[in-house]
Amino acid sequence: MEEFDERLLSAKVMKADDETEESLRPHRLNEYIGQDRIKENLDIYMRAAKNRDEALDHVLLYGPPGLGKTTLAYIIAAEMGVSIRITSGPALEKSGDVVALLTNLQKGDILFIDEIHRLSRTVSEILYPAMEDYEFDIILGKGPSARSIRFNLPHFTLIGATTRSGQLAAPFRDRFGVLFRLEMYTGEELSEIVTRSAGILGIKITSDGAAEIASRSRGTPRVANRLLRRVRDFAQILGNGEINKKTAAVALEKLEVDELGLDRTDRMMLDAMIRSFNGGPVGLETLAAMIGEEPVTIEDVYEPYLMQIGFINRTPRGRCATAAAYRHLGIELPSQTLL
Ligand code: ADP
Repeated sequence: MEEFDERLLSAKVMKADDETEESLRPHRLNEYIGQDRIKENLDIYMRAAKNRDEALDHVLLYGPPGLGKTTLAYIIAAEMGVSIRITSGPALEKSGDVVALLTNLQKGDILFIDEIHRLSRTVSEILYPAMEDYEFDIILGKGPSARSIRFNLPHFTLIGATTRSGQLAAPFRDRFGVLFRLEMYTGEELSEIVTRSAGILGIKITSDGAAEIASRSRGTPRVANRLLRRVRDFAQILGNGEINKKTAAVALEKLEVDELGLDRTDRMMLDAMIRSFNGGPVGLETLAAMIGEEPVTIEDVYEPYLMQIGFINRTPRGRCATAAAYRHLGIELPSQTLL
């Protein structure tokens, strides 16, 4: 179901994440670090729903990969004391797939659909009335013998996760009562996440060691946890096993992750934008071809962080590298510049 991406700094799931990702997931809302506004509101919505003995409204979570959308869905299930079923847009190919899931839900249960922007039309057409009226019709057979069967469902909660809410049809988006946009994490929050994960994995780490890893994690907990594991290997073999600022910096240097969390691919992309296109604008397709990635990967994985740190601007004519990007790469700004 998952697509794997082998780039160290990718925010997407990698094969090696699988084993530890589960053990590092916080299970309750008070263990979930950061996203304070979401936590506060969610807490109120959940308490109100429980008070009324109702299912929670449908929830749409959006934001770049690795920021904790799936984790939040599990936490909601745990806090509400209900079961959760997990699937993803591309995995639900036929109407039968979604019918089987829906008809097995109990009152209050959660259906989590990752990558909900990738649902097929047939599946969406069942999901719309299921979300709105807790019922849907299926047509069996063809021609004159065709008949329609109505299914009634208990009140359930759909949690959808997407990297791009803009790709959801407006009527679909409107069926979610609650919309949360996850923000990238601050250095302090990521330090806390790294320290917590180190505790669970039995890794010794100093607070400046955690801060060093945090500052290179692109605002993304999944990346922070992955870097922690790689740095641990270096600390074990090259030092006494403890991660401090120095071992973290040396290890990350060897992993070619720079002090802002950019890797070779990021630098190559910026370098090409600057040297071959005078800083831009460069179209998305061209950018993708330059580094041998899919355009969606640029949009979901590379760009959010480069925009967050102000290295790239999106303009109607394409992407532009900013003065900060020139400075970071040590390239002199052209004199007649509008950057
Ligand atoms: P997404 O579904 O957005 O791609 P996940 O929920 O799978 O991201 O999160 C990736 C990993 O990051 C999880 O395994 C979890 O350990 C960690 N993580 C995410 N958000 C938090 C958080 N707020 N606090 C602590 N750890 C987190």
